[in-house]
Amino acid sequence: MRVTTDSPSPRHVPVVVVGAGPAGLTVGNILRAASVDCVVLEAESREFIERRPRAGVIEEGAVRSLQRRGLADNLSKRAQRHSSCEFRFGGERYRFPYTDLTGRHHWVYPQPLLVADLAHEYVDVRGGDARFSVRDVALHDLDTARPSVTYTCPDTGELRSLTCDFVVGADGPRGAARAALPTAHARIARHDYGIGWLALLAEAPPSSDCVLFGVHPNGFAGHMARSPGVTRYYLQCPPGDDPENWSPDRVWSELHQRLEGADAPALTEGPLTEKRVLDMHDYVVEPMTYGRLFLAGDSAHLVAPIAAKGMNLALHDAFLLGDALVAYLDGDDGTGLDGYSEACLRRAWDYQEFSQWLSEVFHGAASGDPFRAGTTFARLRRLFTSPAAAAAFAEQYLGASERY
Ligand SMILES: Cc1cc2nc3c(=O)[nH]c(=O)nc-3n(C[C@H](O)[C@H](O)[C@H](O)COP(=O)(O)OP(=O)(O)OC[C@H]3O[C@@H](n4cnc5c(N)ncnc54)[C@H](O)[C@@H]3O)c2cc1C
Repeated sequence: MRVTTDSPSPRHVPVVVVGAGPAGLTVGNILRAASVDCVVLEAESREFIERRPRAGVIEEGAVRSLQRRGLADNLSKRAQRHSSCEFRFGGERYRFPYTDLTGRHHWVYPQPLLVADLAHEYVDVRGGDARFSVRDVALHDLDTARPSVTYTCPDTGELRSLTCDFVVGADGPRGAARAALPTAHARIARHDYGIGWLALLAEAPPSSDCVLFGVHPNGFAGHMARSPGVTRYYLQCPPGDDPENWSPDRVWSELHQRLEGADAPALTEGPLTEKRVLDMHDYVVEPMTYGRLFLAGDSAHLVAPIAAKGMNLALHDAFLLGDALVAYLDGDDGTGLDGYSEACLRRAWDYQEFSQWLSEVFHGAASGDPFRAGTTFARLRRLFTSPAAAAAFAEQYLGASERY
């Protein structure tokens, strides 16, 4: 096949970003704000990525960093501020007021809205070059000073090539960037929880003003507001379960049971617009760099959505990487790029550990093992009897530690 350059766009750009998720678009925006040229390559269409539902809970630190970079105008106007969460177990309700303990809170803002805001700012406001619906993205010569990225143009079917100084691999868990790492170079540590979550979106208003965690012998259930008319629910299920095994009647019956709590208002039901099974697993790639390739977000570390941490980690990587690339291309000594992987991994491992801890709280009661169920309830009770345990939980849940 004939390989062409991207005329009239430049054949060489300082940075090629693979993936237009929260990580890739944030890096792109930081680069454009510093007038650094870059190209963002995305396998899906712009319409698709602006509608793809996923995360919703964003840490205060991430929101402040977005605000400082002029990337949170809509979020600041529309996001809901949350100051507590509620555990339900043994038919009782236990409210956990994390803002009272830390002075910090969570924001709820659906990921597709954030992605749409970031894409708008990058393409329409900052004049960034983004190429959507590209195919066959491949990374080359990453261990040289002049790597390149090839892809198939969706309109012409031609193979295109861009050379660059740096490649940002922000293309998620199944992208091309992580696959380009030589196996001898990177260590990939994996953890499989051996459970599934049925992830649901309901066209129904939230039934509580906070996130609900139901710890029940039938399995975990979660309730998370997304917007005034949409609520995300989770139900623990066997890994690999078929979503078709979950009729709306079965879904709502299990949600009512697992989220039962004394005097709690009944859940408001509505049509289910998303129903898919997530097999809960984590991984971490170490180091997150290879030659001129820098991984960011889910391509480098996947954290199961147990503690709502994945997008927060992706944004954190993007802030560090965007700033370090700008500083390097502006003539600094490369310290930021050299320390990038280690700085990101410290936080990534901390969040992985918290997710593992929380997983035991959520799932131990339904394990069928009375010993695990006993320790699960001991962990839960400790949160409501020990101020020190409550403070530690709040700090981890909010990602509010001063240092990682
Ligand atoms: C149901 C669910 C709920 C979640 N809830 C939360 C939450 O509340 N809080 C939280 O912090 N996190 C949450 N997460 C995790 C969060 O959604 C991810 O961590 C986040 O999307 C990671 O962002 P990213 O930019 O690294 O990757 P992605 O968002 O996956 O973006 C990668 C992009 O790369 C593109 N791509 C893939 N392959 C290629 C290729 N070969 N070439 C070019 N482009 C490619 C993809 O189409 C995609 O647009 C949740 C996840 C799920 C599934």
